Amino acid sequence: MIYLDYNATTPLCDAALGAMLPYLERHFGNASSIHAAGREARAAIDDARDQLAALLRVKPHELIFTGSGTESNNLAVLGLARSQRTRGRHLVCSSVEHHAVLHAFEQLQRNEGFEVTYLAVDANGCVDPDELASTLRDGTTLVSIMSANNETGVLQPMRRIAEVCRARGVLLHSDMVQAFGKVGVSASEVEGPRRTTPGVTPRGPSTPLRSAQDDGGFLSLVDAASFSAHKFYGPKGAGLLYLRAGIPIESIQYGGAHENQRRPGTENVAAIAGMSAAAKWALAGISAEQTREGALRDQLWRTIAASFPAAQQNGASAPRLGNTLNVSFPGLDSETLLMALDMEGVCVSSGSACMVGSVVPSHVLLAMGVARDAARSAVRFSLGKQTTAAEIDAAGDAVARVLQRLAPSPATHQTYAVA
Ligand code: PLP
Repeated sequence: MIYLDYNATTPLCDAALGAMLPYLERHFGNASSIHAAGREARAAIDDARDQLAALLRVKPHELIFTGSGTESNNLAVLGLARSQRTRGRHLVCSSVEHHAVLHAFEQLQRNEGFEVTYLAVDANGCVDPDELASTLRDGTTLVSIMSANNETGVLQPMRRIAEVCRARGVLLHSDMVQAFGKVGVSASEVEGPRRTTPGVTPRGPSTPLRSAQDDGGFLSLVDAASFSAHKFYGPKGAGLLYLRAGIPIESIQYGGAHENQRRPGTENVAAIAGMSAAAKWALAGISAEQTREGALRDQLWRTIAASFPAAQQNGASAPRLGNTLNVSFPGLDSETLLMALDMEGVCVSSGSACMVGSVVPSHVLLAMGVARDAARSAVRFSLGKQTTAAEIDAAGDAVARVLQRLAPSPATHQTYAVA
């Protein structure tokens, strides 16, 4: 099997497994218990929090353990919007967010009297910070914009977005689920090559942005950020929310006083220990790894483009993650391609969802202006640390065979070209 779906999930790394095993096999205590078994579990959680805080260059109490990236996003969006509701009820997010963000905003809009502005994106899926600036008004309390898109890998101009939010004193949350472990932790890396900044003077209630030379961690850009361990070689069912010290948040679950009253529920000690070990492992040698994956990704693209000239890369002209390749195969449909590749032993993903028997094109690609048919034909290839050059060669051959079967004539390819 050739696994090219690392944006969906990653294999557990040995470091994470090793960190988890003692808490699965022997140390089963509840971290809330005051006896020795409980204290052992509490110490593991405290250690993991300290290590993650050091990696992310934040304070340990600014980290909240959750059960997933979805939960972190829900907690950030619902919890921050609700806690700020006496200040205002206008919220902003991009139209290419993950559904864990989008659906939380929809809930606030539909059932809780909030107004949400969904920011349009350009052909690469990037938000325009100037347009963001013009949507902010008195009563805007929260902006949520993902750092890296899960379907295209495109990186948002987070520094400029942060400057705009700071200047207006509006809280900024970012879904960093796909960014973490694929870009370095410094603020400049989260947005790829530096983009030009308009003359927005940062001011406002939060910590000022640091300069590029002393840019701190990427979390210096935002007030809140979501992470998910299984996207960076950690276990499934472990998430993290960074929340800048001093910012109030309403809990979205009810029960105990865990996580400083912010997230009730008995902590998953093994998963938390695994997440911390995985984070360290994922960040090691990250820039060389992204270059390696980027070269393999581009090689795969060249093979695809040679066998299917009408193929188009989505989001390729913006800074993006080195591991992600999103390709439309106009005239074909993504589910057929995905199944044919699966039969060849290649695991990939489509951005589209299969609902009641029909393929619904990706909201991300539609927001980018990709034609419906091209969006319905999109396939996402995502590489990871275990991807080898031999696998990319073999995957390229498999894609070529599948395309030959599904669209045998090169002349046919031309007639499928997208408008
Ligand atoms: N946000 C992004 C950008 C994602 O890619 C995902 C998962 O695909 C999530 C959030 C949800 O994370 P989890 O699977 O941990 O719930």
